[in-house]
Amino acid sequence: MPRLVRLLAAFLLLLGGVGALATSLPGPTLFDTSWQDRESLLRDVAPGSYGEALELDTATIYHLELTLDESLTSLHGRQEVYFTNTSGGQLEEVMFQLLPNVLGGRLSIGMLEVDGIPVAVEYLRAGSVLRVVAPEPLGLGESTVIALEFELLVPRGIERNYGIIAYREGVLSLAHAYPTLAVFDGERWDLDRPPAYGDLIFSESSFYLVKVVAPAELKVVTSGVQVSRDDEGSMVSTTFVAGPVRDFYLCASRDYQVETRIQGDITFHSYWLPGQREAAKLVLDDAVAAWQHFSERFGPYPYRELDFVPIDTSALGVEFPGIIALASRLYRPGGSGSLLEGVTAHEVAHQWFYGVVGSDQVSEPWLDEALAQYASLLYFGYRYGQPGYRGFRQSLLERWDRVDRAVVPIGQPTGVYTAREYGALVYGLGPLVLEDLAAELGSDVFAEFLRDYYQLFRFRTVTTEAFRSLAEEHCDCDLSAFFETWIVGRMPP
Ligand SMILES: [Zn+2]
Repeated sequence: MPRLVRLLAAFLLLLGGVGALATSLPGPTLFDTSWQDRESLLRDVAPGSYGEALELDTATIYHLELTLDESLTSLHGRQEVYFTNTSGGQLEEVMFQLLPNVLGGRLSIGMLEVDGIPVAVEYLRAGSVLRVVAPEPLGLGESTVIALEFELLVPRGIERNYGIIAYREGVLSLAHAYPTLAVFDGERWDLDRPPAYGDLIFSESSFYLVKVVAPAELKVVTSGVQVSRDDEGSMVSTTFVAGPVRDFYLCASRDYQVETRIQGDITFHSYWLPGQREAAKLVLDDAVAAWQHFSERFGPYPYRELDFVPIDTSALGVEFPGIIALASRLYRPGGSGSLLEGVTAHEVAHQWFYGVVGSDQVSEPWLDEALAQYASLLYFGYRYGQPGYRGFRQSLLERWDRVDRAVVPIGQPTGVYTAREYGALVYGLGPLVLEDLAAELGSDVFAEFLRDYYQLFRFRTVTTEAFRSLAEEHCDCDLSAFFETWIVGRMPP
């Protein structure tokens, strides 16, 4: 509570200063924080990236209030989004992805307002997209406040969502559980979807202020940091702040306990369910080692906290900003420690590649997946020397073996590959291609390239083309033949 008081005090002070910026847009109703005030929130969340984050002055701001019911199978949401048009022109419409509707859940919109004016709810693509038509077109550089309410029915099965949005075995996992702004790619709203085996979300760095109202005995773990907690009888209201992040993930269980470690100014939380304590400690060891190596190698992790939660997922692990879901089955005593370690390193690497440096996970999945695998290879070398490096490298070759080491470019959209090819090429061959690229550039030049890549595209969205031209700048060489053979297949015209 004192921290919130401090936030509010800072906000009131700021209000005086930003009065001149005030527009006719409706102020927030869910929180007493002005839309212009990112500073008081970010100070506590992202000390390492505070200055840079403040420069993201056109990034979207989400205010969310999520009220979970006792059974943890449904929730009521209120959401206010402060959106600034950076599309390059005037916008007639704004699109939100309703991802639960392609993941076996049901997300339905109730009230919908643009700048305080009620507008019609219009669903597209079998209910998986919300189209919001503004009463008046939104000019370039102008901001708008879109307010809505929604109901979410949480799936019980994991067939269509590999468990990332589901209530299973006492754990509620809520991935992409609210209307998420789509990305405007310069020409159109990008509403492309991968097949069932690829990552779904493509979104931009945003700021989140989220109040979760939930049964008191529930342990709620989310992206970002907790800034306040108020007991309201059998329910507790907890406020979290996150940013700049591409998504807000929430996971909760009545059975979660936690192991915590503090390294520098980062707090690592490793949650566990009964019988998983030893594995949760190993997750902490591996996570801290990976964080250490990637921080030195690529650049600093920008947030104050990194959490790990076991969930019942058919995937091995799934990355979210500041929080990583790992398959509960990997925590079993006697389970494969090296598999859990490999998954932990891979998902931690995604904090750098996907979380901080964003890319379109549907059309260019190699940018985050092959890099996360390559980072894992470096991690095993760092931690266990040559034998560790060789061991992980062998596992990559074995993945590639699943397609008989076919030479197929790794940089295609997910949907171009079958599920088998996707795993074998993007996760198996992909990191080996990066290893070759490192050899082509020279390891020092490649290491410097990756540091600059991380710095330059921090909180932004990179493309294969941008990756290539930055690499070429570093080697002062022409990489078109390399990219043609191994990554893009053919050069763009
Ligand atoms: Zn991955």
